[in-house]
Amino acid sequence: MSHVHIIGGGLAGLSAAVELAPQAQVTLYEAGPACGGRARSFHDKALDCVIDNGNHLILSANPYTFRYLDLLGARGTLKGPGRPLFPWYDLEADLSWVLRLSKGRIPFWLFRKEHRVPGMRWGELMALPRLMKADDDMCVGECLSSGALSRRLLEPLAVSALNTDIEQGSARLLGNIVRQTLAKGGAACCPWTAAHGLSESFVTPAMAYLESFHAQILTGTRVSALREEGGRITALETSGGEVSLGAEDVVILAVPAPVATGLMPSITGPDAFESIANAHYRLAEPLKPHAALREAGFMGLVGGVAEWVFLHDEVLSVTVSAANRYASWQNDEMLAHMWQELRQALNPALQHPLPEVMPAARLIREKRATFAATPEQDKKRPEAKTSYANLALAGDWTDTGLPSTIEGAIKSGLAAVDALGFRSAVSDVA
Ligand SMILES: Cc1cc2nc3c(=O)[nH]c(=O)nc-3n(C[C@H](O)[C@H](O)[C@H](O)COP(=O)(O)OP(=O)(O)OC[C@H]3O[C@@H](n4cnc5c(N)ncnc54)[C@H](O)[C@@H]3O)c2cc1C
Repeated sequence: MSHVHIIGGGLAGLSAAVELAPQAQVTLYEAGPACGGRARSFHDKALDCVIDNGNHLILSANPYTFRYLDLLGARGTLKGPGRPLFPWYDLEADLSWVLRLSKGRIPFWLFRKEHRVPGMRWGELMALPRLMKADDDMCVGECLSSGALSRRLLEPLAVSALNTDIEQGSARLLGNIVRQTLAKGGAACCPWTAAHGLSESFVTPAMAYLESFHAQILTGTRVSALREEGGRITALETSGGEVSLGAEDVVILAVPAPVATGLMPSITGPDAFESIANAHYRLAEPLKPHAALREAGFMGLVGGVAEWVFLHDEVLSVTVSAANRYASWQNDEMLAHMWQELRQALNPALQHPLPEVMPAARLIREKRATFAATPEQDKKRPEAKTSYANLALAGDWTDTGLPSTIEGAIKSGLAAVDALGFRSAVSDVA
């Protein structure tokens, strides 16, 4: 049986491991104390509760993600309204609305004032075909026209999907997302989140699955070098000692871009990154939201700093994408500012308003949350196959056609499996 060595236990590495476990002997090396990488949960001492590294929103049009969850029997660990429903609040205009897409391809929602984006003009919809036809060098800003649809839907969608502002974000990458979501109709746009945390949905079930196939998971094991000879990887240098590879052994390098290019200088990859800031507020008791907010479990915000707020039992979590622009803000300042925004946006939708005094809170800035999804950086993404006979690459930064997302990471794991000649569903799924 072939032996596959997978370096990196984020979702790219886990996706490859899950695909390979029934076909090969798998050993996975993860530097951290647990797998999951950027999509993991952990116990936060300051708040004394388990939080996710970052809020993650998944859409029903993420076929690789749902296939992965189905293999693991973990689809039921997600929660969502089961329909394309998005509560929004405009902090500048003090206005709330609920975007309710129609399920089918024909966008009936556009004809109903109470279902669409308030103030939008029909002409603004031309941005969608422009994005889908954009060439590799175009930025999102070149495709949007100014107006309420852009400001209240397309810009927030672009910034959160690309984690890059619209003047620099790649129109091609956003166009790929529009093609798979809005263009397919509301059924492709139902929002989902992990009901009890990212690890419970994406990591713990994968560990159980891999153990059932006797895969070896070596957490706390950092790979510091890959030895090469004659166009093959012949050994791995790890914090647990050197591992010599047999003639049939293959390697999947599923670490972040800067680590991969550091380990293998012949590999090129994106070299500019964007941060994401996540704020977590520990509440005294769970919130009691009304109607759409209760159903969705999250709200989109425009016109302020906070962009998405997610309601977990006793924790309110806020996401701010493309957060390099807030690098000069102090953490306390940013937390206090966003708390007031949350009170403004959420209070009208809550049975009991949020208190004026900010509760215990924590701001986590993930400095290299994703590669900057610009046209230039997109061109630097390598494919899974490398010039080494027994080495393939995986990771959200490889050339998946998607921005840095769970969907991209899981797809990349399958592409690496395919590149090494194993069975993989990479071409069958989409
Ligand atoms: C705050 C935040 C919010 C996000 N929100 C969303 C969202 O809403 N929706 C969405 O789809 N995506 C979102 N993403 C993106 C998503 O989390 C990533 O695209 C995905 O998790 C990347 O997976 P990966 O396996 O490619 O990389 P990683 O998760 O980075 O995994 C790489 C792994 O390699 C390990 N490693 C590194 N060096 C070594 C070494 N030398 N030896 C062994 N192991 C090593 C690391 O410890 C890590 O576990 C978000 C990301 C962040 C940070």
